[in-house]
Amino acid sequence: MRERHESMLGKGDNQAIREVNRSIILDLVRRAGRVSRTELARRSKLTKPTVSTIIDEFIGDGTVREVGLGESLSGGGRPARLLEFNDASAAYLGIHFGVRATRVAVADARGIIRVVRGRPSLRNAAARASKVVRSAVTEALQAAKIPWARVAAAGATVPGLVDQETGVCVLAPNLAWQDVPLREALQDELRVPVVVNNITQASAVAEGRVGAARGVRSYVWLYVGSGVGAGIVIDGRLFHGQSGFSGEIGHCPVSEDGPPCGCGRRGCLETVASTMALLRAAEDAIAGKQATRLARVEGRLDVAAIAAAAGQGDAVAKRILAQGSEHLGRGISFLLNILNPEMIVLGGPVIEAGEPFLHDVRASVARHALLPRGVAIVPSTLGDRAELTGSVLLAMEKTVRSYRIVGSHDVRARSATEM
Ligand SMILES: [Zn+2]
Repeated sequence: MRERHESMLGKGDNQAIREVNRSIILDLVRRAGRVSRTELARRSKLTKPTVSTIIDEFIGDGTVREVGLGESLSGGGRPARLLEFNDASAAYLGIHFGVRATRVAVADARGIIRVVRGRPSLRNAAARASKVVRSAVTEALQAAKIPWARVAAAGATVPGLVDQETGVCVLAPNLAWQDVPLREALQDELRVPVVVNNITQASAVAEGRVGAARGVRSYVWLYVGSGVGAGIVIDGRLFHGQSGFSGEIGHCPVSEDGPPCGCGRRGCLETVASTMALLRAAEDAIAGKQATRLARVEGRLDVAAIAAAAGQGDAVAKRILAQGSEHLGRGISFLLNILNPEMIVLGGPVIEAGEPFLHDVRASVARHALLPRGVAIVPSTLGDRAELTGSVLLAMEKTVRSYRIVGSHDVRARSATEM
């Protein structure tokens, strides 16, 4: 298993070929369910001795296991021993530092999330981040019945700017974090390799791998929640920019004297197009004693409640959503004009506003973008798991070489996340 963690670069051709062969075999096993060595040799076009050597190594380190015998071959030959990928051979952690809550996920060796545990948001509390994460991870691993020793890597996401070189969260306005050495702190506490990414960039990776943007070469994953931010994938590659600070469209100024923003400026796009803006408008309407069903909402007022009221003909709710969709459509038109993507995937709480709201967003884009035609604007299919799924996938990228090499789909995913 160790060799797979090392870089192929700078080594001899034999080593490189060996790495590729191991990756091909592992990928075939991972996809196959149960499979024999003979079948692997046939599918990989490698010789049976080569396949057997590689499989023995994988069995040795626990990545692959033997699971009994297959059908006896006709003519009474020896039945083949079957192999399968061992989901329990490694575990990966996904960590999300959200504005509302901190969440930790434990995933198996395939990257399938098994257990999620939550903690309160660490807004204004960056110094406690690694300790809080450790306690949540311990709890999640216990629930998943996975020992600490099996954890191979962790991926963390923050709603802010992350320096890709240093793993420092330079700025996360909505968490009130500045210059937090997150990778270092988490590695010290968790004792595994850690990658730190921006939430929208990680979510964009997840959407391209397992969500609405599968097979799409150029797309933008647009988070619309407390803030607004974009994960930009161009020609199959996540676009980081010089330091990893790309996609901060939420802080583009759109209104001279607009509301104050978490970044310290005024009139940023997210002050008018985020779900926070929708909720603030609803609260203002209620406080101003406007006639609206929103005043009678039981429990927490959220975007779904505004959408429901609008659906029942509530004029105030309809006006709030109309304004929100107009602003959001303008923001998206900037992305279309500059990047010419195939698809915009909307993620975050905005999805709760429902299809009528999305329809209005598309109409706004059609009014404002130069050539809006042919650009799909769709909701994320990953729900609130997008950031944790992306965190796990990026943690796997850190350690599992094979994930980066094999198969048409994985090649695309590999290039989408290459850093
Ligand atoms: Zn701002």
